[in-house]
Amino acid sequence: MRVANSVYVLCIPRGPEDADNYLNLTLIVDEENGTALVDAGLPDQTEVISAALTEAGIGVRDLRLIIFTHQDLDHVGSGAALVRQSGAWVLAHSADAPYIGGSLRPLKPSPEMLEERPHMRKLLEHLEPVAVDEQVENATRLDLAGGTQVVFTPGHTPGHISLYLEGSKVLVAGDALTAERGYLNGPNPSATLDMRTAMQSVKRLADFDVDTIVCYHGGVVSEDANGQLRRVIQEASRNRNE
Ligand SMILES: [Zn+2]
Repeated sequence: MRVANSVYVLCIPRGPEDADNYLNLTLIVDEENGTALVDAGLPDQTEVISAALTEAGIGVRDLRLIIFTHQDLDHVGSGAALVRQSGAWVLAHSADAPYIGGSLRPLKPSPEMLEERPHMRKLLEHLEPVAVDEQVENATRLDLAGGTQVVFTPGHTPGHISLYLEGSKVLVAGDALTAERGYLNGPNPSATLDMRTAMQSVKRLADFDVDTIVCYHGGVVSEDANGQLRRVIQEASRNRNE
């Protein structure tokens, strides 16, 4: 699905254990500076990702950059295989890079999450670390799609980042926000390590003028994106005061 000039959302199924559950990878096509993929699905999803890329007219070998919003296994999953096939340069925030690169064990899934969803154990066994070539920080500006800003949005994990594409006003939110059929919601509390910090990160995102929000879980929000961001913040502060 094309959401803006040169920006595509690749909607891929999570797999048989999670029917009707999809992951939304973002593809940023930039022939000048190199095409970028944001997040890389679960382990063993290289083929389905490759097929989704083909639909957008891109081969795995065309990928020059893979940006991880954070360390979770449904984002890093097929990254190592895609890097092997493409030679892409890998970017992530410094606070999550050691978990992605394998020098630290991923913070999730927690033992409780594994108990609730035992099939995640197999996925975790198949998770390969990915060496991070370049660590980014808040406000790092990438030469991508006419200017892309890294927005540090910790909370879901300590090193979570979102991306703001200045030209198209697309916000790639990763797991800093979620959505359901175009309706924006805050981060998922059951998967977020520090909800308070995560809500502060949502406030940081509301500083941007946004036309389209891409949530990794829930997909695209295009109807009054700025207004919906403000609503999510208001709802959270109301709940805190109750
Ligand atoms: Zn996720």
